[in-house]
Amino acid sequence: MMTEDENSETILKPLVFRVDENTPELVKNVLLERGWNKYNEDVKDVADWNLYWRTSAFRMIDHSNVKPWQRLNHHPGTTRLTRKDYLARHLKHMKGIYGASLYAFSPLTFIMPNDYIKFVAEYSREKEALGTKPSYWICKPAELSRGRGIMIFSDLKDLIFDCATIVQKYITNPFLIARYKCDLRIYVCVAGFQPLTIYLYQEGLVRFATEKFDLNNLKNDCSHLTNSSVNKTGASYKKNKEGVGRGCKWTLSKFFAYLRSQDVDDLLLWQRINHLVILTILSIAPSVPLASNCFELFGFDILIDDQFKPWLLEVNFSPGLSLDCSTDVSVKRKLIHDIIELMHFNQTRLRKTKKESREASGLQPHVSWTGSDKDRVCETSKHWCKISWAEGKKDRDHETSGQWINISQFGQKSTIHALSRYTSHNKETCISSNIFSLLQGKAYTNDLIALQKKVKVFPKEISTEKLREKKVSKDSVPPAFPKIRNRQTTFKSFHLFPSSESCKKKKNITPYFLSDIGMRPCSHVGDFALIFPFNEATLAATKNGLDLKKVIHELQKLVNKQPTTEAEDKTKKT
Ligand code: ADP
Repeated sequence: MMTEDENSETILKPLVFRVDENTPELVKNVLLERGWNKYNEDVKDVADWNLYWRTSAFRMIDHSNVKPWQRLNHHPGTTRLTRKDYLARHLKHMKGIYGASLYAFSPLTFIMPNDYIKFVAEYSREKEALGTKPSYWICKPAELSRGRGIMIFSDLKDLIFDCATIVQKYITNPFLIARYKCDLRIYVCVAGFQPLTIYLYQEGLVRFATEKFDLNNLKNDCSHLTNSSVNKTGASYKKNKEGVGRGCKWTLSKFFAYLRSQDVDDLLLWQRINHLVILTILSIAPSVPLASNCFELFGFDILIDDQFKPWLLEVNFSPGLSLDCSTDVSVKRKLIHDIIELMHFNQTRLRKTKKESREASGLQPHVSWTGSDKDRVCETSKHWCKISWAEGKKDRDHETSGQWINISQFGQKSTIHALSRYTSHNKETCISSNIFSLLQGKAYTNDLIALQKKVKVFPKEISTEKLREKKVSKDSVPPAFPKIRNRQTTFKSFHLFPSSESCKKKKNITPYFLSDIGMRPCSHVGDFALIFPFNEATLAATKNGLDLKKVIHELQKLVNKQPTTEAEDKTKKT
C-alpha cells in the first residue's frame, strides 16, 4: 500500500465546473461554496474542467472526448427510463421475461396510439367486471413533466390525445394523510452502468396535493396531482392544512417518522422501494451504451397506496433542483453536496505527491491509469474499495492500507479521526473534503497545521492552465492554505490533474472513474447508500458485463422473503 513520504509535497489546483444556461443555480452555488472555479467558456481549453453539469443530455461526441479527470452528469441512453412511453416499454419487456409479479410495482400502462385497441379491450373488460362502478385512468403526455397535459378520466369518450401519450391505471386507493394525497420523490444516483453501481439517497421529498382527495371530481388537479408546480399556484398552498401544514412538501424522514407513529413498518416499505429502484434500472442497464466518467441523478416518483405498496409513476431526468421552500433547501442542498462527495474528486488529489505530479505532467514517464496501477486507481476511486457484506461489523467497514476503517468516516466524527490518522501516521488513504468542512473549531488546529504541511494549495484566482504550467515548474511556491469556515460555506476544493499533455501521449487511457471491475463500491457516501450490488452474488454478476438473469434471481429471493400485501396477492392471482 502506498505511504506518504514525510518530505513529499502535494500540489493541488482548483477544481473547475462547466455549466450551460440551464444548469440549476443550486448546483453552481454549491460548487462555488466548495471552492470550485467556474469554467471560462472564452478560454476554449475544452480539457480544462472537471465536472460538466447540464440539464439536457450530452452528445455522444462529448462522451467519447471525456478526459480521465472529467465527469459528465448524464450517462448516454438514460431517456429510456425517463420518457414515460419508453419506461412503459422496458418494464413491459421485463414483465414478459421475468414475470408480472416481480414488476407488479408498475401500474398497467398503454402507449398511445399504438396500444389504443388493446386499451379499449381492457377498458371494456374492466367496465364489465365493475358493473356500475366507474373505472379510473390517467392520461399523460410521454414527454412532458410537471403535471402538464395530464388528465384523469373514467369515461372512454373523455380520452383525447394529440401527441405520444400513455394511458395508465389510476391508483384510486393512495395512502392519504388527513385525506391529502402524496407521493415520494426519491433520488437515485447511478454512479456507473458498467459495472452497475446504484446509490439511493436516504433523504427525499414527499409532495402533497393541496386539496382533499376526491374521486367525484376528477378535474381538480390540486386534489389528484402532487406536482408542486401544480399545487404551489393553488388556493390552498399557503393555508395551514390539517395534518399536513403549510405548503406542499415534507422531507422523507418526516414522512417515515409519521409512518412509524402510525405503527407502519417503514423499513419494509423502504426495502420495497429499494427493490423497485433496482428492478427499474435493470430494465435498461443492458442496453445503455458504454460510457465512462459519467453519472446520472434520477428522480423516482413513487406513490404509496393504502396497503403500503409502492407504485412507480415515473422516473425523472434532471429532477428539479429549484428551491421553492425551506424543505427544498434542506434536502436539495445536501443532495448536491453529497453527489459531489460521491464523485470523489478530492480523494484523487490528496494521494498525489509532487513526484507523481511531475510524472503526470510528462517530465518523467507519465502516470499510467491502467494495468499495474489499478491498485492506486482503486485507492483513489473510492466507490470501489474492499468491503465485506458477510462479516458482522465489517459489513459497514472498508479496508484501506491493510486495515479496516469505518465507512462512516464520511460522517463527521470519523472523518476527523481519519484526518488525525493521516497526519500522525501519514497513511490515510481516503480523506474527503469533509475534513475541511469539519475543521470548524480550534480543537483540530494542530491537525490542520499538520495537514497544511503535507498539502500545498494554489489560490483560486490562478487559472488551471497556469497551474498546469506551474506544476511542471520546479520552483513553484504555492501560497497559503485557504481559510476554512464550515461545510456549507467556503471550504476549498482542489484537484491534481494528470496533465492533458501526458494523456494525449498515452493512447487508450482507461478513465479511472468508477470502472474498476473486481473491486467493491463504498456502501455509504454522505446520505447516499449503495443498493446495488447488494451481495457477493450480485457483485460477481457485474464483473464481466451484467449477468441480468443472475441478478434477477438474487432479487427474486429477496422479494420472496417479504410479506406480500393484499394488492400484490390480487396481482399474482390475475
Ligand atoms: P409528470 O411528469 O407530469 O410529473 P407524473 O407521472 O409524475 O407526470 O404524474 C404527475 C402526478 O400525477 C403524480 O405526481 C401523481 O400525483 C399523479 N399520478 C400520476 N400517475 C398516477 C397514477 N397512475 N395513479 C395515481 N396518480 C397518478
